[in-house]
Amino acid sequence: MNTTRKVTILGSTGSIGDSTLDVIARHPDRFEAFALTANNNVEKMLAQCVRFQPRFAVLLNPDSAERLATAIKEKGIKTEVLSGIEALERVASLPEIDAVMAAIVGAAGIRPTFAAARTGKLVLLANKETLVMAGRIFMDLVKANNATLLPIDSEHNAIYQSLPQQFNGNLVTAGISRILLTASGGPFRSVPIETLQDVTPEQACKHPNWSMGQKISVDSATMMNKGLEVIEAHWLFNAPPDKIQVVIHPQSVIHSMVAYVDGSVIAQLGNPDMRTPIAHAMGFPERIDSGVSALDMFQVGQLNFEAPDFEKFPCLRLAYQALAAGGNMPAVLNAANEVAVASFLDRRMKFTAIPSMIAHVMQAVPQQEMLTLEDVLKTDTLARNQAHEWLAAQQ
Ligand code: NAD
Ligand code: MG
Repeated sequence: MNTTRKVTILGSTGSIGDSTLDVIARHPDRFEAFALTANNNVEKMLAQCVRFQPRFAVLLNPDSAERLATAIKEKGIKTEVLSGIEALERVASLPEIDAVMAAIVGAAGIRPTFAAARTGKLVLLANKETLVMAGRIFMDLVKANNATLLPIDSEHNAIYQSLPQQFNGNLVTAGISRILLTASGGPFRSVPIETLQDVTPEQACKHPNWSMGQKISVDSATMMNKGLEVIEAHWLFNAPPDKIQVVIHPQSVIHSMVAYVDGSVIAQLGNPDMRTPIAHAMGFPERIDSGVSALDMFQVGQLNFEAPDFEKFPCLRLAYQALAAGGNMPAVLNAANEVAVASFLDRRMKFTAIPSMIAHVMQAVPQQEMLTLEDVLKTDTLARNQAHEWLAAQQ
């Protein structure tokens, strides 16, 4: 790489944001953190601005942005502070920007991620919710604007690495028989099903192998995360649902696999640390140091595999159903899940009510096609309203 890649990080104060800045800091000659964005964490954003001196810092919340601007002035830093959703879209689409790390959590990430694709950026996609909500529309937008899409989600990054280099979106001509999407099984993989109704947010957020934001941690505990990832894989790799098989692999060392018609299975392995897929995508097509320690096979010792339990983890089944139904259903699933997870984290409902709420909302919202981002955002609002109504009726 001859020039420095200018990068916008959407969600720089989060778990993926931290890991991305860690990789950037290892390669000051290759990358520049040009714009950093977050929801409202003033202190953390200030510390990041002091360290990386970005051209722009955006906080969604205007009051937080004002406090940040004052603090930045006091420190004598040149960073310009902006706020609001339009500012998020703007820093994702500035002409100077080469790459956008899309790492906002949830549906909130969709508009700036779309802005990056619309302006033909290298889109490093961690925000799986964008693909779940608007898979076809987003993939068409990427293509129409000559954007490049590289997956950050560890499984999809592993699949990307295990596909033939010249893969053109056709599994059949590439000789691929199946995509094997691995899953740790989350913190409740081996607890009895009856105990699930009493689990606390603290227990649900304690992932055995990965340290992540709260929402994706709960998604891992319900296995909705794997369901969202099935939908994500469907769009990224043009894979029909029956060619995507979820394989429980508790060690999280194999990050996913591609099976070929000749019986070969190609896998990507590594320590469970998001800096590996981040460095892979940021440096692509070169390989660069990520700071992740080498995988010690003797310490790993063994690799185990199990079939998923759809009865214990109904969210996984609901995600396959939403994908099969198509149209607005994956967006409905996603919106209901976001409300359910937030309500569980706020202790307003039980862990086992998460799939109940989602199933209800999928019944309540009529199925329809979606053609534009506006259609997607309308569906999102409608499904959230249904979810809140359901919760109110329970109490
Ligand atoms: P996180 O909660 O740690 O961080 C989320 C970031 O988004 C923060 O910077 C926050 O300020 C920002 N944000 C939240 N709400 C916002 C809003 N309304 N508007 C603007 N910014 C907002 O989350 P995370 O674990 O880093 O996950 C980020 C995304 O990456 C998610 O879509 C997740 O599914 C995906 N992902 C994460 C991991 C992981 O290991 N953490 C792995 C794979 C995929
Ligand atoms: Mg993942």
